[in-house]
Amino acid sequence: MSNIERVKCLIIGSGPAGYTAAIYAARANMNPVLYQGMQPGGQLTTTNEVENFPGYPEGVTGPEMMMQLQAQAQRFGADIRDGWATKVDLSGDVKKVWINETTEVHADTVIISTGATAKYLNLPSEQHYLSLGGGVSACAVCDGFFYRNQEVVIVGAGDSACEEAHYLSQLCKKVTMLVRSEKFRASVIMEERVRNTENIEILMNTVTEEVLGDGNVVTGIRVKNNETGEVKEIPATGFFVAIGHKPNTDIFKGQLNMDETGYLLTEGKTSKTNIPGVFACGDVQDKDYRQAITAAGSGCIAALDAERYMASK
Ligand SMILES: Cc1cc2nc3c(=O)[nH]c(=O)nc-3n(C[C@H](O)[C@H](O)[C@H](O)COP(=O)(O)OP(=O)(O)OC[C@H]3O[C@@H](n4cnc5c(N)ncnc54)[C@H](O)[C@@H]3O)c2cc1C
Repeated sequence: MSNIERVKCLIIGSGPAGYTAAIYAARANMNPVLYQGMQPGGQLTTTNEVENFPGYPEGVTGPEMMMQLQAQAQRFGADIRDGWATKVDLSGDVKKVWINETTEVHADTVIISTGATAKYLNLPSEQHYLSLGGGVSACAVCDGFFYRNQEVVIVGAGDSACEEAHYLSQLCKKVTMLVRSEKFRASVIMEERVRNTENIEILMNTVTEEVLGDGNVVTGIRVKNNETGEVKEIPATGFFVAIGHKPNTDIFKGQLNMDETGYLLTEGKTSKTNIPGVFACGDVQDKDYRQAITAAGSGCIAALDAERYMASK
């Protein structure tokens, strides 16, 4: 039998969105309980350099920044715990969330900040340089700056890939874009934008065979043309993977409204989902911006929405 606990505000997820929601909810006397999930600190714990979060003029490592956000939330009394949500029943006035199948949390308000997971090709060489921070990235806006005036390769064929390739083209000497099939998946306007950019070279029908490097950093990409079988090496110091993200929303399926790719839908500028008392913030509801600062901003909105919901009851 599970333990049952009653809380005013339950926050699921410990990225910038969840911790910011915890800071605001704690300071509003909502006594938030936050479960960290499988990745305490969220996606930023996998990066060594965060240079674009305001307040860190010298930059900061992802793990250090997340420890500081956690400490700031705890300073105001947020109860930060290990454990992940395995099942939810959001139908009643009191929302039920099961943690590790053992604890049942009954909450007046639930703030969902479970983020999204970047998809990779899962080649061993890609994962090797990703784990070293040696030149593999899934975020051009986050990491493009580190490759100024250098040559990079990006893989992907959708709108986001086109947008990221164009972003990189403004920083880098040359961008080679690898498209697996003979067609883009992006809208015509996005495809045209990359096709009309002088320093973007597009290789259609081309797949990545291996990320090449000296053991520490990326030096090039070996690619193969699917049609001709031709194999060649492209010199590059950065390899950007733009093949999509998977929002962490499986447990909410059938209860919360989502778009076709599983991102939670929120109402207008608010964090309100289709269920009163349930709010969503951060990357789990944002497939457009996906930045730490935008996640943190929406965490603030979610806590304010939750506080107003409680006040109105
Ligand atoms: C390698 C890398 C580098 C990046 N660099 C930058 C950068 O330099 N600057 C920048 O602004 N952005 C950067 N980003 C993007 C940034 O990390 C994200 O936009 C941000 O972390 C999103 O925050 P979030 O709080 O929405 O979710 P996440 O950080 O994704 O956190 C999600 C949280 O939810 C938890 N969770 C998931 N499922 C459950 C569950 N069932 N129960 C409980 N908890 C759960 C996870 O454990 C995690 O704690 C980078 C991303 C990556 C991958």
